[in-house]
Formats: sequence, C-alpha cells, structure tokens
Amino acid sequence: MKVLLVFAHPEPRSLNGALCNVAIRELEAQGHEVRVSDLYADGWKSEVDRADFPSLAPDGRFIPVAASKKAFDANALTEDVKAEIENLLWADTLILQFPLWWFAMPAILKGWVDRVFAYGFAYGVGEHSDRRWGDRYGEGTLAGKRAMLIVTAGGWEEHYAPRGVNGPIDDLLFPINHGILHYPGYDVLPPFVVYRVDRFGEADFEPVAERLRERMRTLETIRPIPYRRQNGGDYHIPSMQLRPELGDPGATGFALHEDRAGTTVKPATPRSTLRDVA
Ligand code: FAD
Repeated sequence: MKVLLVFAHPEPRSLNGALCNVAIRELEAQGHEVRVSDLYADGWKSEVDRADFPSLAPDGRFIPVAASKKAFDANALTEDVKAEIENLLWADTLILQFPLWWFAMPAILKGWVDRVFAYGFAYGVGEHSDRRWGDRYGEGTLAGKRAMLIVTAGGWEEHYAPRGVNGPIDDLLFPINHGILHYPGYDVLPPFVVYRVDRFGEADFEPVAERLRERMRTLETIRPIPYRRQNGGDYHIPSMQLRPELGDPGATGFALHEDRAGTTVKPATPRSTLRDVA
C-alpha cells in the first residue's frame, strides 16, 4: 500500500510529531511505502491568491474558481500544488494529521486543501445535468482510495460525546470527513482521535501509540464510515435532498448522510455505465 501522510504541526518534538513517527514506523514495518508532506517544515503557502495562477493577466479580475479550473486544465498550477496532486494520485491511502485548533484543522492544512483540491481535480468533476450532479460524494478523481484523520484534542472525550458541550466529534469532523474527503471520492475511515492530550505524561503515551499502531495495521481492512453515495439513488436529483423514506423520521443533521441501517435504496450505478448513457 502507498500512504501519503500530511502532517500539520509546527513542532517536530510535539506529541503530534511523536505520533507521526509511530505511524510511519508501523506502516513501514508492514511493508507499506510512505510519503510525508510536512506542511510547516516545507513552508507550505496556505492562502489562495493571484500568485497561485501565474498565467492570470495582471489586470484581470481574479475569480478563484475560474482560475483554478483554467490552470488545472492547462497544467499550469504552481509546482508545489502539482507535486501534492501527484502525491494524492500516487497514494492508495491519505492520512491528515493535526491538533484540533478551535474545533477545526490548523489554517495551514485548510490552505493545503484550498490550494491542492483544484477545480477539475477534486471538484467540478463529471457530468453536471438534471440527471447527475457531478462525480462527488463517493465518486470522483480519488474514488477507490481510503482516507482518515489523526487528531489530538485538549478536551475530554466526554465533552465530545453525543451530549457533550463541545458537540459530538463526528459532527465537528463531518465537514472534513464528508465535505473534504468523501467529496472527491475517498472512502473515509473512522478518525483516530486522542483526547485530553495537554495533560499527557510519559505513562499515557505508550497505550495511545499502541492503539495507533493497531490502526495502522488495519488501514486496509477497517470498515469506512457508511456515507451515502450521492449518485447511488438515496438523493433526489437535482434537489440533492435525501429521499423522505430514508433516515429516521423527523431526523435532521449530519448523521442523515450515513447509511447506518443499510437502507440505501439501490447500489451505486457504476460510473462506466453512466458514461455510456450520458
Ligand atoms: P504537545 O503540546 O506537544 O504535547 C501535549 C502533552 O503531551 C504535553 O504534556 C507533553 O509533555 C506530552 N508529550 C508530548 N510528546 C510526548 C511523548 N513523546 N511522550 C509522552 N508525552 C508526550 N483543544 C480542543 O479540544 N478543542 C479546541 O478547539 C482547541 N483549540 C485550540 C486552539 C489553539 C490555537 C491551540 C494552541 C490549542 C487548542 N486546543 C484545543 C488544544 C490542542 O488540541 C492541543 O494543545 C493539541 O492537540 C496538543 O497536541 P500537541 O502535539 O501540540 O501536543
């Protein structure tokens, strides 16, 4: 297996740095190939701006979506972005590792997504019509690959439980797991979350490291989060509303988009078939 680990912590001697090393060592011990994109160490540029699109006319209005599409189509993205796209295409599995900062990923990692997930690569893929709203949410360029998060949090696990004051961790991570990873096609594995880390001592580290090693050993076999596929029949197209007979009656919110009870109305139509009829 080929694994890309995107690491977003400014200090290699941090807890995150130590856990990153544990993950890499275990993956390599299992015979997997690992590439690491160490965003702070690499000086990753996190903001999208005109410098990302050198072919844009100096006096032209900068429209990020249009510029991204044009540059991707013309193979004119900047070299750092092209290298990360190549890494993503190379890897069977993507791991994003970060400390939870303000209930989200650090800005440098969000900037990696903003710049690397280009139009035509991660979004704007496939047929957009009244019958089909593109290849996304389980389909798309990165379909067939796996992805997961490694996250450390200062807060207690209970605070992130379904009735915890911070909100459920699955809800907080939904925009990343579903909106960023499932969107361009990934099968998303349950996140590896470590709680209450700011009080960590020597004795706390080894059990967590062992739990992480175990997750790395099961990367290929663990069951993904059962997100519904956009084009699998669960959603009305083009309104993209979940069909009323699916999900618990009266239920709202992120959990609706997981097929926890296995109620999907029909299996996803193979992309090749859709292409044939398009
Ligand atoms: P470190 O600070 O490097 O280490 C944490 C502890 O682990 C330390 O006690 C250290 O001694 C110990 N340790 C480190 N390495 C080892 C090792 N190899 N062996 C044994 N012990 C070790 N938390 C939330 O829950 N929700 C939030 O929204 C949130 N927002 C934040 C926003 C900001 C801007 C910041 C700075 C923090 C926030 N936090 C939040 C807390 C944050 O999630 C934690 O500080 C972070 O996850 C800790 O990870 P680290 O790698 O930086 O740990």
